[in-house]
Amino acid sequence: MTDPLAPPLLDAQGRRMTYLRLSITDRCNFRCNYCSPASWGGKRDMLDARELARITSVFASMGIRRVRLTGGEPLIRPDILDITRNIAALPGIQHLAITTNASFLAPLAVPLREAGVTQLNLSLDTLSPETFRRISRQGDFDNILRGIDAAAGAGYASLKLNAVVMRGVNDGEVPALVAYAHARGLTPRFIELMPFGQGTPVPTAELIERLQASGLPLEPEPEEASDAASLTSGPARYWRAPGGRVGFISPLTQNFCGGCNRVRVASNGDLRSCLGGRAQAPLHQLIRGGASDVELAVAIRRALGDKPDGHRFTEPGNGATLLSMMGIGG
Ligand code: SAM
Ligand code: SF4
Repeated sequence: MTDPLAPPLLDAQGRRMTYLRLSITDRCNFRCNYCSPASWGGKRDMLDARELARITSVFASMGIRRVRLTGGEPLIRPDILDITRNIAALPGIQHLAITTNASFLAPLAVPLREAGVTQLNLSLDTLSPETFRRISRQGDFDNILRGIDAAAGAGYASLKLNAVVMRGVNDGEVPALVAYAHARGLTPRFIELMPFGQGTPVPTAELIERLQASGLPLEPEPEEASDAASLTSGPARYWRAPGGRVGFISPLTQNFCGGCNRVRVASNGDLRSCLGGRAQAPLHQLIRGGASDVELAVAIRRALGDKPDGHRFTEPGNGATLLSMMGIGG
């Protein structure tokens, strides 16, 4: 019998899984209206730093090479440096990234890099404190700007600035966000809004046309360059502008599920085979019940055997029934 702990880790469609997204908390200091209910409290029964490393080591032995920590807000965890150190030290893990709202980042930017984090994705939808307040409902805007500047000066190999674009809210700020990111050496990326909360999406094609009409010369990056970049940075497609690259992530209008290489573990320890699906394995319960690494690997393979061929965001009525973004981490 083949060893369940050995690579490759394949899903039901034969796609090879190399990228693990770990939601390490469903708590957050913001309540972004496209992501979180206004009254969200979060739960505290999360995987601890040792359990996160144990699960990641099983995935690493099965062929996972890249890990992203997300949430909720990952930097809300007081043990974030232990979590990153443990995971970065695992054999086989080549890239360790964090997606963060940057509000706790100023004092952590250098320690996180020293703990083995290779890449940060910083979320910033607007340069206006008023629009920020309207989107995030709470939180300190100046802390975010300080966090982004600290990251820009901390020597990371790759820094991205992610903005979710919403019609009539921040779509007019896209050229200013490009300039803000390029001035700090960050790659701006614009994400089509997925139906988890409020707001109206702007299709990527329209955004590109509007950027070009605003006077920004944008040229599509050759496919090979975008493909090479996507090995380390996911499903974004990149264009070139005079100040640097500009990325677009288009889950609605350019379904990228065919090339999916990612598997998710939610903050409660459940493996989710797809952001837009429901197949899962209760890894936390298995660990607490004394499961061996082989038993965990078998449960992971069984859940991935049910991974759907693509998300169902665009099907009518699906937004209301999708899993909470806060628990699975985008
Ligand atoms: N709190 C961290 C942050 O905001 O960066 C990490 C978690 S957050 C869920 C991860 C990413 O998902 C953020 O860039 C956020 O903008 C994005 N996101 C949340 N809800 C979304 C939605 N409905 N559509 C598209 N992106 C979304
Ligand atoms: Fe929190 Fe990030 Fe969701 Fe905003 S997008 S509510 S910062 S988890």
